[in-house]
Amino acid sequence: MRIELDVKLGFKDVMIRPKRSTLKSRSEVSLSRKYKFLHGNGEWEGIPVIAANMDTVGTFEMATALAEHDLLTAIHKHYSNDEWRAFLNQAESKIYDRIAISTGTGKEDAKKLNTILSEFPDLRFICIDVANGYSEHFVDFVKQTRDQYPDKIIMAGNVVTGEMVEELLLSGADIVKVGIGPGSVCTTRIKTGVGYPQLSAIIECADAAHGLGGHVISDGGCKAPGDVAKAFGAGADFVMLGGMLAGHSESGGDLIEENGKQYKLFYGMSSETAMNKHVGGVAEYRASEGKTVKIPYKGDVKATVTDILGGIRSTCTYVGAQQLKELTKRTTFIRVEEQHNQWLED
Ligand code: 5GP
Repeated sequence: MRIELDVKLGFKDVMIRPKRSTLKSRSEVSLSRKYKFLHGNGEWEGIPVIAANMDTVGTFEMATALAEHDLLTAIHKHYSNDEWRAFLNQAESKIYDRIAISTGTGKEDAKKLNTILSEFPDLRFICIDVANGYSEHFVDFVKQTRDQYPDKIIMAGNVVTGEMVEELLLSGADIVKVGIGPGSVCTTRIKTGVGYPQLSAIIECADAAHGLGGHVISDGGCKAPGDVAKAFGAGADFVMLGGMLAGHSESGGDLIEENGKQYKLFYGMSSETAMNKHVGGVAEYRASEGKTVKIPYKGDVKATVTDILGGIRSTCTYVGAQQLKELTKRTTFIRVEEQHNQWLED
């Protein structure tokens, strides 16, 4: 046994210090980024916020709505091949810059991925997603996928430490997904005791990735636009959101009415709800590591997107960053023991 004594921080442990700025208004701030990737071909331009590949978030409807704002959606892996065909056959060509196809590392996952990619070779992004990105089998799957698709932009995760970020990049990933345990419907830290505070994970993983010319996605733990800004400030190239984009009309699932109030169901992808729905129950050898919650219905996602992007633009004006690209180098985090004033909240 060994113990590391330096403190690791989450979003709640810091604030961003304001700095002198010549910017007059939020409207002067550009959130668009242009990236070239370590392995995959071509350049990508857009706002680097991604809807998570959960079936209550990363839906085709969400992708269509977010593409209007130049955001990305990692489409969840539970659509059938026919549903993919129906979606892509009616979508515009610009959707290919705004969606990733998700896969696990099982044989059936790989088969489905290959079928869709052979029928729709314009798909640019693949998201290889497992709960534990530290397994040899996962690294082998990333290598195989890279060999098979030298031109695609591969996202892979999740991990939380620099050495594993490096291994995944060297195995063929372009973008490493960072986050174990911070998710809003994740119970990994409770069930297993495993995890890493998200802000420190981003800082350390971004440093490792950027050293090799790779990129990172901060995945999980954002509860408000300020957290998204902190993730970018810490060095994330992309930020993935689950809970903040759940509960909308585009978020899939049925609208539930209880005592005159409307809700939508939101659940972790390894929750009992998800496992019952997609794989016929929780296997005996594993615990469910996700929970199920009812989120008050928030209507169309457009207003939420405007709120998130407005928040990040405002962060940029507070620190004098005219472009999102400048946010990290203009960020000084201060360690705090309080966040906002909750006195008058109901
Ligand atoms: P959020 O933005 O809601 O805080 O976090 C979203 C992220 O939580 C997802 O992108 C995914 O990485 C993670 N996640 C989703 N479902 C589960 C689950 O059932 N268990 C765990 N451990 N993490 C999950």
